[in-house]
Amino acid sequence: MKFQPRASHFIDGEYVEDTNGAAIEVIYPATGEVIARLHSATPAIVEQALNSAKNAQAAWAALSGTERGRILRRASDIMRERNYDLSVLETHDTGKPIQETTVADATSGADALEYFGGLAASLTGEHIPLGGGDFVYTIREALGVCVGIGAWNYPTQIACWKGAPALACGNTMVFKPSETTPLSALKVAEILVEAGAPKGVYNVIQGYGDVGASLVSDPRVAKVSLTGSVPTGRKVYAAAADGMKHVTMELGGKSPMIVFDDADIENAVSGAILGNFYSSGQVCSNGTRVFVQKGIKEAFLKRLSERLAHAKTGDPMDEDVSFGPMVSENQMNITLGYIEKGKAEGARLVYGGERIERDGYFVQPTVFADVTDNMTIAREEIFGPVMSVLDFETEEEVMARANDTEFGLAAGVFTNDLTRAHRIVAGFEAGTCYINTYNLAPVEAPFGGSKMSGVGRENSKLAINHFSEMKTVYVSMNDVEAPY
Ligand code: NDP
Repeated sequence: MKFQPRASHFIDGEYVEDTNGAAIEVIYPATGEVIARLHSATPAIVEQALNSAKNAQAAWAALSGTERGRILRRASDIMRERNYDLSVLETHDTGKPIQETTVADATSGADALEYFGGLAASLTGEHIPLGGGDFVYTIREALGVCVGIGAWNYPTQIACWKGAPALACGNTMVFKPSETTPLSALKVAEILVEAGAPKGVYNVIQGYGDVGASLVSDPRVAKVSLTGSVPTGRKVYAAAADGMKHVTMELGGKSPMIVFDDADIENAVSGAILGNFYSSGQVCSNGTRVFVQKGIKEAFLKRLSERLAHAKTGDPMDEDVSFGPMVSENQMNITLGYIEKGKAEGARLVYGGERIERDGYFVQPTVFADVTDNMTIAREEIFGPVMSVLDFETEEEVMARANDTEFGLAAGVFTNDLTRAHRIVAGFEAGTCYINTYNLAPVEAPFGGSKMSGVGRENSKLAINHFSEMKTVYVSMNDVEAPY
């Protein structure tokens, strides 16, 4: 098997195997063939990984930020040099077209390593003068051992978005990828060691949810960063609360995208395509509720259908292919189930709506129009290539409807009215908003959700606050006054 790693886990700078763990079969979603066989972590492996991270932490934190940063930036350079090979692996792990993985996965991981590597040397506390000579200074300290748990849609990116800020701050990490896409995080761990990261600083162990749960509840762990669904987020947050651990929760969404009559239709259609069909719709921040003002509804739908006819399905390794399979048979069936619900509840199917007849787990890009707010496809996260188009007439009406959801991950507006754009964004109940574009997530900008979509932010300088804490030191320059 071409993509079989040397072993299932990467602990203390080495590949480690324990064949007593439950089997994990890695399947290429474009064909259904098994490309690697791994084992879930046994309690002994979990123990080994946590010990390794715990033992490595103090020495890693004692390096200067410049030294830690240099290692992260070296790892970033290696990832960029190997971008094509890493992208081939990512395409086989996830099914995403090579056209996408070469620009959005290892490159995005490398951006995070470079950005947080650059910040590492400037992470400091502050000096706070208090008058009378007294002062406080604060020391920014690492949290300790951090656990990262990933979803299957962007495995390399998630491994780096969590690992890079954690390591920059002097923490060590045990990362558990989704068992659906376990391969690329191992490469991230290998590259970090090659770049000079000491043994045990970044460990990867495989497993199902039970392995994630045992990591979260371990008393050696100071922080948990999860990318996953809301139901899993609830469980992980509750387990972390029990140990008063820090958390970052990057969860699901059902984000609105509003297109006003005065918008540039071509740009709005491009935004809707990016926000619904990139990675076959398996993106957490997707704008799956597309509210289109009545005056341009038919023009929008017509242009959208014309553009979708150019989506090229096929072997994801073909560089011309722009639309790949779903990550798994299970995710395909979930998506097809939602499509049936959309039809049954009276939405008008205007594009796609079927499984694509070929090997693998392909579903057509699908567009429903005349969707109403209460339909299942407008309320629940599908995580597949299904766009719901809803009509609206006034700004007030659409604002209320856009926010009428338990989720708050992202939101977008297309309009050429400058003041309206800012008014709408100010009203959105969402962590990440877009004006006249959609779904970009540069490392320099905070990313994350409000409401049920999450807690905390990834990327940007804000991520540093989620991977470190301040120690306050009060220094007296005067005699101590006591009442008696
Ligand atoms: P899941 O919530 O099913 O799983 C996420 C991860 O958590 C997996 O590694 C999973 O392991 C693990 N896990 C499951 N149960 C537990 C538990 N009790 N304790 C600890 N860990 C556990 O999500 P998916 O992998 O299906 O990913 C899709 C979801 O992720 C969507 O809702 C999507 O919106 C969200 N997402 C959010 C993003 C964001 O940045 N906000 C980005 C990408 C995706 P296993 O898979 O082995 O069960």
